Amino acid sequence: MTLGTPGTVPVAVETPRHTSISGLLDYTSPQPLAPGTLVRVPLGKRDVPGLVWEADPGATAPPAALREVAMALSALPPLGADWRALVEFAAAYYQRGVGELALAVLPPELRKLDDTQLARRLKRLAALKPAEAGTPPPLPALSEEQAAALAALAAVPTGHPPPPVLLHGVTGSGKTEVYLRAAADALARGHQALVLVPEINLTPQLESRFAERFPGRLLVSLHSGLTPAQRLRHWLQAHLGQADLVLGTRLAVFASMPRLGLIVVDEEHDPSFKQQEGARYSARDLAVWRAHRAGMPVLLGSATPSLESWQRVQEGRYLRLGMAQRIGGGAMPRVRLVDMNLLPKPGAGAPERVLAPPLLEAIEKRIAAGEQSLLLLNRRGYAPVLHCGACAWKSGCPHCSAWRVFHKLDRTLKCHHCGFSERVPRACPECGNLDIAPIGRGTEKLQEQLATLLPQARVARLDADTTRAAGSLQQQLAEVHAGEVDVLVGTQMLAKGHDFRRVTLVAAVNADGALFSSDFRAPERLFALLMQAAGRAGRDAEQAARSEMWVQTWHPTHPLYAALRKHDYDSFAAAQLEERRAAGLPPFAHLALLRADARTAEAATGFLQEAATLIDATTAGVTVYPPVPPFVAKLADVERMQMLLESPSRKALQRTLAAWLPQLNGLRSRHKGLLRWAVDIDPLAI
Ligand code: ADP
Ligand code: ZN
Ligand code: ZN
Repeated sequence: MTLGTPGTVPVAVETPRHTSISGLLDYTSPQPLAPGTLVRVPLGKRDVPGLVWEADPGATAPPAALREVAMALSALPPLGADWRALVEFAAAYYQRGVGELALAVLPPELRKLDDTQLARRLKRLAALKPAEAGTPPPLPALSEEQAAALAALAAVPTGHPPPPVLLHGVTGSGKTEVYLRAAADALARGHQALVLVPEINLTPQLESRFAERFPGRLLVSLHSGLTPAQRLRHWLQAHLGQADLVLGTRLAVFASMPRLGLIVVDEEHDPSFKQQEGARYSARDLAVWRAHRAGMPVLLGSATPSLESWQRVQEGRYLRLGMAQRIGGGAMPRVRLVDMNLLPKPGAGAPERVLAPPLLEAIEKRIAAGEQSLLLLNRRGYAPVLHCGACAWKSGCPHCSAWRVFHKLDRTLKCHHCGFSERVPRACPECGNLDIAPIGRGTEKLQEQLATLLPQARVARLDADTTRAAGSLQQQLAEVHAGEVDVLVGTQMLAKGHDFRRVTLVAAVNADGALFSSDFRAPERLFALLMQAAGRAGRDAEQAARSEMWVQTWHPTHPLYAALRKHDYDSFAAAQLEERRAAGLPPFAHLALLRADARTAEAATGFLQEAATLIDATTAGVTVYPPVPPFVAKLADVERMQMLLESPSRKALQRTLAAWLPQLNGLRSRHKGLLRWAVDIDPLAI
């Protein structure tokens, strides 16, 4: 174990990056403290938590009067060198302080304990009989493709870092079984396994499948839905090596696991692996880095891989293992496009067309056959906006540049960006007209309309509004699984990895929105969502032949839909990558976004413009674009602007950012009204 200079201890603390670029401050300690030891140190007038770090070899001699470490949590085994390397890499890459990141990813409860309290906890945990030993369920015979994938995985050379493996398996091809076997193999070799999933609450089935498969082994979960005490306990169990399996969301990529031997990232393309505040890290990318450094396998699974991962396969940097068949040999659902242009326009008095007649008919047939249908509409609430026909008033949010959504059930107008909510006015607040009307349709309205169109059907709804109460999601999913629902309306939540066995029809009611979005990733996301949604139909092989995915569209000839019809991810990805290459977008270019929040748009713009002058674009090899407002320019009374930096070279971009960002706080005072700035490396949306 490397110790710092005797007497002097570098400690990573939560200082903002501009106080100490490395985030490390020096202290003294009467006894030597190993790197990775949790401590409390005086900073200004307070005691703050910190982590003993390696001495920075380049650091200058510390000033004479160092303060002393106030307290060390010696009962806790120090965080290991691998963990510290991960944090150090992530801090440097995402341009944050080491201490800031390190402390942000540890369970908050940890800092509330003193050494005695912690020692008591650890003793209790050590005495715990964790998991009940039992008989594992009989293993299913592997499909040919599963067996081939596992054989290829086993043949990946070890020793030097094995290449990341992309498990490209269509929905229903049995990717989970591959994860389970790979995990069993890691456990048999005495390792721990880490499984990252986008949103644990949406797929409770996955956790129970892992728990059933490994009786006698301790499985813990790490996600934001845990109580602070649970999160601490699970984290400690992983850190102490008691837990063999950690199943978690993006924050779990930072779990301390001394025997880690395998990382799985399920649905690796999912945007929720990217943290959207603070250190905006990508858990998928960090998982790849972590595995590479430790020389262990990492398995990225998806039916619609991110174009980043796909491009790495093309370059030979990742190994692709494909599974093109559904378990049981079931067909993929037949994709049917409904050309909305061909429907008769709703005339005077004629009702608005919700579902095209053939789609409605198809749903009726499913109901008669005792089968289920899923209707996807990616917009919650009753209607996205209320409108007054007399004076053109619309239900804008007074605090954001966004409309407030009409929620009929609780009669509110709610801003989905800042949360501002008011009772629906009885008359137009501008002119008093009583006839204010909702425009457009959200899931609430679709559910209501379906109840009229299909009076015999049991119509349920699944979205963020219906699943807010604790346990309600599980209960609703259970009702669907039990066949108590005929038609389920919902947002993209519906499309997640649910293993619905009675669903034979899935319909995207209004998918076109993303086709012409200014966000260059919108088509990639739409395609993934529709493929994922289609994958919910016909999961029971017997029903697969009848299963259908319907898409209502005004643009039936769009190439995205042509690829969807053929379930052809490869050609969709190839076409997208060509466009990205031509436009100089990721994965062929690397991006960073500097965001500024201010009282006025002028202040935000002024700050960004001055920041841009500090970069010499010609020598930096980085293109700096002019500041532009984001999609929601004003949010909760704050004006926002953003400025894009782009470079074909990741190194050049990183070098520029590292030199540039520390200068930015010096500019702050010159831009009155500037509230904060932040940088987003590899932003998902621009
Ligand atoms: P994916 O994640 O690829 O969409 P799943 O892992 O959910 O697919 O598997 C689809 C279904 O097939 C699940 O119900 C799973 O239990 C079942 N399954 C997977 N592998 C096998 C197998 N080898 N034999 C029988 N059933 C399997
Ligand atoms: Zn009005
Ligand atoms: Zn708002």
